[in-house]
Amino acid sequence: MPKPVSHPNTRSDRTDNLILDMPKVELHMHVEGSLEPELLFSLAEKNGVALPWRTIDELKAAYHFKDLAEFVDLFIQGTQVVKSADDLYAITMAYLQKCHQDNIRHTEVHCDIRTYVDYGFAPEMVLDGISAAFADAKKHWGITGGMLPCFIRHLGVEKAEQDLRLLAPYRDRILAIGLAAVEVGYPPALFTEVFAKARDMGIRAIAHAGEEGDPDYIWQAIDDIKVDRIDHGIRCLEDKQLTETLRQRQIPLTVCPFSNVALGVFERLEDHCLPQLLEAGLNVSIHSDDPAFFGGYLIDNMHGVVEHCGLDETDLVTMQYNAINSSFADAQRKAELRRELDEFVHNHSLMAQSRSA
Ligand SMILES: [Zn+2]
Repeated sequence: MPKPVSHPNTRSDRTDNLILDMPKVELHMHVEGSLEPELLFSLAEKNGVALPWRTIDELKAAYHFKDLAEFVDLFIQGTQVVKSADDLYAITMAYLQKCHQDNIRHTEVHCDIRTYVDYGFAPEMVLDGISAAFADAKKHWGITGGMLPCFIRHLGVEKAEQDLRLLAPYRDRILAIGLAAVEVGYPPALFTEVFAKARDMGIRAIAHAGEEGDPDYIWQAIDDIKVDRIDHGIRCLEDKQLTETLRQRQIPLTVCPFSNVALGVFERLEDHCLPQLLEAGLNVSIHSDDPAFFGGYLIDNMHGVVEHCGLDETDLVTMQYNAINSSFADAQRKAELRRELDEFVHNHSLMAQSRSA
């Protein structure tokens, strides 16, 4: 398995402190992707769920993925330990606690409704559990954010249509609807109509595209689904015209370096195209995707790209401004987040330009 995790003894203290202190925004993190093996085992025990792994180490040893499809399989297996809103609260809260420790000030989390509905649960179980955790994180630590339920693309359009009907009554409780899971073979254009219906209901759209899928998947996310944001989008560099369109329109790309290495999109972190995406003037930001599976949280990804991709502190700050501008926070919250980051930049005498939204 590729080893994207950075080596603590080679980090400089200054970079360590700077990354930790920087006020951060995360826009691409799947709730169950933060389910650490320890919590997975304790939920399995509480709910009487038999697991295919006998020990935590055995589960960790299973985190070797050939590709996205293999990972999605394991990810779905993890959802079987979830039986109540309280369980989803516990998973989300563990992540938000980590956000607090790591100074993530705003986070928008992808979640899955369909899997739980197919297990026989109501969609409220997911929405209530996650939103209760966000309410507590806001009260205790001032962390803001919300939910991005995703259509599971490999289950097809009909299921997505059903999901939209389930989510429609709750459209005020979600930030957007996304498109996630196995990408190749399920291009965004298949979902044009269901996303058009969502748009008519006032629901924003995001989509995973161009992670394993070719640049055409990204074109379709833009032209057919009319996304506000693209998750990954890293293969855009294979198409000059696409790269130029993304640059001109500043369509956000939420990039997840550790994920891309763990799923074999790049062999090593050193090969990741993040520096080229920044160089091309694209609106890119950095995120963890599924931190419990891919070897690290947001700050670990930030350390990784400094150590292995040649990015510097200014690049990290630029990506944080991009993340604020690309978030679905309201104008007032975005202004607050920008002020916090401005202050950080000023206090650390960093040079980075605050691009306005
Ligand atoms: Zn993702």
